[in-house]
Amino acid sequence: MRIRIQNLNKIYKNGNQALKDVNLDIGNGMFGLLGPNGAGKSTLMRILVTLMKPSSGSVTVNDWDLQKNRRHIRKLLGYLPQEFRFFSKLKTWEFLDYSAGLAGIRNRKVRSRQVDEMLDQVGLFEVRERMANKLSGGMKRRLGIAQALIGEPKIVVVDEPTTGLDPEERIKFRNLLSDMSQKNIIIILSTHIVADISSTCKSMALLNEGEVVFYGPPERLIDVAKDHVFLIQATMGDFETIKERFPVISTIPSEEGWEVQVVADKIDGFRAERIYPSLEHAYVYFMEYQQDRVVY
Ligand code: ADP
Repeated sequence: MRIRIQNLNKIYKNGNQALKDVNLDIGNGMFGLLGPNGAGKSTLMRILVTLMKPSSGSVTVNDWDLQKNRRHIRKLLGYLPQEFRFFSKLKTWEFLDYSAGLAGIRNRKVRSRQVDEMLDQVGLFEVRERMANKLSGGMKRRLGIAQALIGEPKIVVVDEPTTGLDPEERIKFRNLLSDMSQKNIIIILSTHIVADISSTCKSMALLNEGEVVFYGPPERLIDVAKDHVFLIQATMGDFETIKERFPVISTIPSEEGWEVQVVADKIDGFRAERIYPSLEHAYVYFMEYQQDRVVY
């Protein structure tokens, strides 16, 4: 599977330009789409799942044009939208059975087997008789991903899947997606949470104000921030000045005061050592200092 996005623009009726000349090439595996709120991620996701038309530009899936082959491409798609709601009157298994029907699995026996397998895979088999709207927040999200994955889609799009989840559920969710991404399918994960873009994302894009400002493997983004992340040994008195001068990533109390991690082009006037960036450091560095630069 291969998705090619070329010169994609979206201008809403009120004049908001949500996407500006977006170009991306997405192959099998997990693809991370990262960006702050309002960057245009949901707009891009909605175009990809054919719920919205772009103002200009094109998307092709393998060699099919998305606009001209909507019906065909829809059959290949699984989608977990940001705002995902259940019908109130269905049990967990019934909801998934209904989704399986929508995904085109007509044979009742086959459907029932696939529903059970999927419930097991997402860890909901035990609660299959519970009403779907009575599940916990984390369970609802897992049921959401189950309905996106049922029927063996070739492209799965998940929009901000971990919003509102506690850390344990978030890790569970991430592992589930990463297991699925081994199956020769495309999983596109859109998020504003850097930690969601785990090492399993082979490739990622950073979207800001509708533009792709970075596109490539996560390690390349980290590479851009190399030499720009510092650990400062700060006294109590220094802390306010540091906060004013640099974006602070974390602060840990130390014997003398604080150990403060910051991103900066250079540090003077403080006792500081360079440290190797994490993806989160790299993201903050890029957003603070590299806005005018596009890295492909
Ligand atoms: P994200 O998913 O990254 O938070 P969105 O795609 O939701 O970003 O939004 C991108 C931009 O488009 C924002 O400025 C948002 O206000 C605007 N926008 C989103 N939906 C609409 C709409 N239906 N009409 C007008 N503007 C919109």
